[in-house]
Amino acid sequence: MQALLANDLDLNAIEPRLGAKYSPNLHAYLALERNRNHCRFARVYRDPDGVLWIGFPDDYFFVGARLSSVLVNGSKTQVFAHMRLVHTLVEVEGFWATYVRDGRCAIDVDHTRGFIGDDTRWAVTDERRTCNWCGNATQTMTRWTEAVEKTAWVAEPLPLAA
Ligand SMILES: [Zn+2]
Repeated sequence: MQALLANDLDLNAIEPRLGAKYSPNLHAYLALERNRNHCRFARVYRDPDGVLWIGFPDDYFFVGARLSSVLVNGSKTQVFAHMRLVHTLVEVEGFWATYVRDGRCAIDVDHTRGFIGDDTRWAVTDERRTCNWCGNATQTMTRWTEAVEKTAWVAEPLPLAA
């Protein structure tokens, strides 16, 4: 068995009242008394399909949940022991330090996803926007026009009467 290392996460540092960049649901999940092992040991891992998981290895199992499920369901998230996953997950190194710094941008590094509370994420000026959460992403509004091919059945003109 892999020895569990404390994750050094300070739950007080990711309280939602400290900033909208912190997920209220992730905080609620980790603050649950029955999840105290997760608060102490959980790390974030990526599976071969790119899906993020939060939890810890325990003997032959990975004990945890999909991170996306925690973000949606918070304290109602079901924790499972996943046997198949345990050997395929790769830890996202330094996740908690990045999360403390950047909030949910640590989960959406590419800035392509939507979150609850997204209206606080972007400072918009004209055609540009800058991320308020991590302060490290700028996007430009791009406009384009697409030609759309359409088809329909139409009546043929009647032959002209002579
Ligand atoms: Zn950001």
